[in-house]
Amino acid sequence: MKIRLPQLYFSKLMRAVVEFEMIEDGDSILLGISGGKDSIFLAYAMAILRIRLKKDFRLHALTINPMFKDGFPEEMQRVSKFMEELEIPYDTVDVDIAGAIEEQKGKSSGGYSPCFTCAYFRRGAMNRFALAHGCNKIAYAHHHDDAVETFLMSLFYSGQLETFTPVTYLDRTNLHVIRPLCYFREQEIIDAIEYHGFRPVPSPCPYDGHTVRQEAKELIARLEQEIPDFYAHLGSAMRRGALGELWPAAKNRDEMRDTYFRYMGRQ
Ligand code: SF4
Repeated sequence: MKIRLPQLYFSKLMRAVVEFEMIEDGDSILLGISGGKDSIFLAYAMAILRIRLKKDFRLHALTINPMFKDGFPEEMQRVSKFMEELEIPYDTVDVDIAGAIEEQKGKSSGGYSPCFTCAYFRRGAMNRFALAHGCNKIAYAHHHDDAVETFLMSLFYSGQLETFTPVTYLDRTNLHVIRPLCYFREQEIIDAIEYHGFRPVPSPCPYDGHTVRQEAKELIARLEQEIPDFYAHLGSAMRRGALGELWPAAKNRDEMRDTYFRYMGRQ
């Protein structure tokens, strides 16, 4: 298979790899592959890096079957063939994420988001597979829109200014997570089908398109119509060092008590 990317795409990929020092000699990198547009492009981009970088590293790809009731799409066979063409060893594992979601939903008193359970089990399965197969890094296909949406969701739902980082070290497993597509906009990844030619496999997930993330995506798109550069401002705000003047951290109980006594003239 002849693989190619235009210079603009390759530059974006290199910007992430170089800025965050994602790949080193001897790395064995497990790719998380769902069969959707993002992960297919990730595999394609990593295969190109394997050719172009002066680094000696291995790739392996894994799909987790979450066992939703519509089953594992037969179309996943196309993914297997695509990985073969890219010369990336490929495996699938079954993880009963659908069952775990049903169980958690039953325990929840409302406002339950299946994606948290799903992500937790997927991460666990990826980590276990990576360790069992001698991989030291895991690459996910999260792109820039994902990071910005996560940043906004975190502010809205947990009151914290945070998002996932381009490289994360997992000290309990000694694995590194890398996100080589972190500078790509989602539309660029959609457009990349022109280069790799793979039609994404539709998600078997019943929650697809009805998630908190989808709401965040739509909200950003709406606000982008009204506020010039709204998306770009969110992207700048999620950089460390971007924080402007914020309130000081809240005092703890002891600090409050000491201050209170000082004010009231008591020891
Ligand atoms: S949309 Fe479905 S597959 Fe995606 S994270 Fe949520 S539960 Fe999992």
